[in-house]
Amino acid sequence: MTQYAKKRYIYAWGDGRAEGDASMRDLLGGKGAGLAEMTTAGLPTPPGFTITTEACNDYFAAGEQLPDGLWEDVLAAVREVERSTGKGFGDPANPLLVSVRSGAKFSMPGMMDTVLNLGLNEATLHGLIKLTGNERFGWDAYRRFIQMFGRIVLEVSGERFEHALEAAKAKAGAKQDTDLDAAALRDLAAEFRSIVREDTGRDFPEDAAEQLDLAIKAVFASWFGKRAEDYRKNQGIPNDLGTAVNVVTMVFGNMGDDSGTGVAFTRDPNTGEKVLFGEYLTNAQGEDVVAGIRTAPKIAQMQTEMPEVYAEFQRIGQQLEKHYRDVQDLEFTIERGRLYMLQTRSAKRTAAAAVRIAADMVDEGTISKEEAIARIEPAHVDQLLRDQFDPAGLEAATRIAKGLNASPGAAVGRAVFSADTAVEWDERGERVVLVRIETSPDDFHGMAVAQGILTARGGATSHAAVVARQIGKPCVAGCAELVIDYATKTARSTDSGVSFIEGDEISVDGATGQVYQGAIATVRARFEDQPELQKILGWADEIRRMEVWTNADKPEEAAQARGYGAQGIGLCRTEHMFREGERLDIVRDAILVAGVATRAKTRRDAGETLSADDGAAVTRFDAAMAKLEVLQQGDFEGIFRAMDGLPVVVRLIDPPLHEFLPNLEEQLVKVTRAESTGGASEEDKELLATIKSLHEQNPMLGLRGCRLGLMIPDFVKIQTRAILNAQIAVKRAGGSPIAKIMIPLVGHVNELARTRHLLEAEARAVESKADVKVDYKFGTMIEVPRGALTADEIAREADFFSFGTNDLTQMTFGFSRDDAEGGFLLKYVEEGILPINPFQTLDDAVAGLMKLAVDKGRATKPDLELGICGEHGGDPASIFKCEAIGLDYVSCSPFRVPVARLAAAKAALASQASMAERDK
Ligand code: ADP
Ligand code: MG
Ligand code: MG
Repeated sequence: MTQYAKKRYIYAWGDGRAEGDASMRDLLGGKGAGLAEMTTAGLPTPPGFTITTEACNDYFAAGEQLPDGLWEDVLAAVREVERSTGKGFGDPANPLLVSVRSGAKFSMPGMMDTVLNLGLNEATLHGLIKLTGNERFGWDAYRRFIQMFGRIVLEVSGERFEHALEAAKAKAGAKQDTDLDAAALRDLAAEFRSIVREDTGRDFPEDAAEQLDLAIKAVFASWFGKRAEDYRKNQGIPNDLGTAVNVVTMVFGNMGDDSGTGVAFTRDPNTGEKVLFGEYLTNAQGEDVVAGIRTAPKIAQMQTEMPEVYAEFQRIGQQLEKHYRDVQDLEFTIERGRLYMLQTRSAKRTAAAAVRIAADMVDEGTISKEEAIARIEPAHVDQLLRDQFDPAGLEAATRIAKGLNASPGAAVGRAVFSADTAVEWDERGERVVLVRIETSPDDFHGMAVAQGILTARGGATSHAAVVARQIGKPCVAGCAELVIDYATKTARSTDSGVSFIEGDEISVDGATGQVYQGAIATVRARFEDQPELQKILGWADEIRRMEVWTNADKPEEAAQARGYGAQGIGLCRTEHMFREGERLDIVRDAILVAGVATRAKTRRDAGETLSADDGAAVTRFDAAMAKLEVLQQGDFEGIFRAMDGLPVVVRLIDPPLHEFLPNLEEQLVKVTRAESTGGASEEDKELLATIKSLHEQNPMLGLRGCRLGLMIPDFVKIQTRAILNAQIAVKRAGGSPIAKIMIPLVGHVNELARTRHLLEAEARAVESKADVKVDYKFGTMIEVPRGALTADEIAREADFFSFGTNDLTQMTFGFSRDDAEGGFLLKYVEEGILPINPFQTLDDAVAGLMKLAVDKGRATKPDLELGICGEHGGDPASIFKCEAIGLDYVSCSPFRVPVARLAAAKAALASQASMAERDK
């Protein structure tokens, strides 16, 4: 065939052959590639052709002009379809009608709706009626065409047509549009045409070629329509993909009761169950099913109404599923008992369905374990472990509105419209959902107490979405259909018409973006009850290279994490144990005299005799320390038992001491008040003096971490003794404890060398006293930039590194996390100054610093063990970076362990793929 344009813009299919195929989605869009592929696979498709995405891009590049020769090529392609169907485009005797369908690479809301029955005019209509002998059908097709073309291409308000249709139904006493007879439809078509004339100032285009030209251009134009642009921006889809246009021979589902149209999934997209799932309507066309013109019966009913077609459809569904090796979402039409396939694509599915389908398909031998892992998203795992709405409750609930699924989970509560009200109501024991037009840092206190958050404005990186994800609250954001009025404390959906006022219970589904009336029951997500999820994660374990450890401070947490599959504890924070119950008093007691006692001990060790006061301070200090040592040993025994046989990294005391004391201002007020009314206690005054003496300008950069251990060695000495003695005790009871002692905040190798020297002496003392050798290791956290930069030196003194990426991020950026996240950082992310919140996902520069430390550390000590224990260890995107850096394990909170197992496997697959790519 001659090609008129310089490039090949057109790919046709028909008669069992196609010029395109499934691999050409970039050029043909999803729909076009699918139609081509189905045709080659021998499935019944109506012939047609795709105008490529490249044509769309060239159209815009040329200032909205069709590229030279394209129109001639379109006409030639139409000729080919005419030949294949034996019909003529615009031919009154035997008219060819087509649909014009947009089709980008990714299916996208906001793109042009499909125009059906294009090619109809007064003349071809009469041909169609004569040919089919069905007058009603002809007029129905015609009025649909004017309506669709008018609304979609000529941009006449759809409501005007709807009103006219309703009026016609009322006049004829018809309940449904199928009840209108030929005469009524003829009158309606005439009215539709006059609506077009009034609205556009021109007659409805009669010429088939002109209709086609206008429709193609309308599809192109919709690529840069506002809705499509917004969607692309939100989803990160590039603007230069362009959309394809598909011109497809019409098949008619509205030719009577032996005709119909429907949509079906090859498996249930909600549960993943292997059954055909969908709906269909007889005597209907196009979108009637989706639009809900009539209530559509379940597809199973087709089995009785049209058994042969059903059997064929079922066979085709299975064939397509096998062919694409994934669940398909299918569109079909039956014309007088003949089945036509109009679309196939991979089906969207819930988290539960995704997991079940992937597991089943591996068992069926359709896909490999690796492919199953590739198909499950970390978000799916996350969703399955959060509380969810009871499916029956959801089914019965009244939907209010739909927004963006910004943070998963099910939230139920009374609607409140301000953060202060949220806090007030929460204090009196009400569960609330915070409803705002949008949120700002001023709303944080309300968000923190709310069960969930609902906003009318803002996308996936809006304040509400970012904060909600961070604090783990369900959130539906950007619910544009919701009109919120703070003055009257009401909200109303412009879409559903449902409204609610302050105090009404609502249910917010952060996983789907749906908002419902009333309190829907929720179900606890239990890991133990999800065999398919466990199966998938078992495969992930086979695939991943990095281990997944957990951050746990208590035996219960450790046990839970183990249940989730944790392979060790990467961070056990000892200071959490200092804060509980009576312990805080003991710790405070020690802190009060810590300075004096430590200095006194140094003098004593140098041979000086101590004063009575100093002696008393030492006694008091040692007594407190001895009590702490016993308590800590008990804690460690519990942890070691829970993690029997698995490594436990215990971090020695880290925070500045003032964190264990009352707030300076409060204590000052207390003492001042007491003084004015008769005198403060000595205790309170002493406490105040200590707080003042420990006061620092920048405590996060002050006396903490290893610095504290070097200044007041007893803290870390008793901790080391407690760890070793706990190990000895658990071992004697038949257990296998594995301890790793971690020294935080090292910036200079000497800090580590000295601390280690100090603690090794302590360890030896414990060993000789108990007369056993204990297996333990010393390592450090890399969380100060200088530590990372000198990792080669530090590795001489360390058996392992664990990256403390919270501090490392703070110190690399020079942000104080508490101040940044509560304030400017969210603005930074919203406005794109920073692409991501670096406390959520590892920043590349921080990851670069880690890589440097890994390389330097391994250069000194090739078997140095390397892990991460910052919160990033549970974030999928950060886990990918950890894989690339070459860490041995990631450690995260117990709840994130399953997600991390999957993410680590996906990261391993990605790195294998990129290695294979490099070797090519
Ligand atoms: P969407 O992208 O919204 O799915 P489609 O292009 O698939 O839009 O078309 C919308 C509806 O019109 C679908 O139900 C589809 O099956 C139907 N349709 C599209 N082209 C034809 C055709 N040539 N014959 C009959 N029905 C069609
Ligand atoms: Mg479709
Ligand atoms: Mg730290």
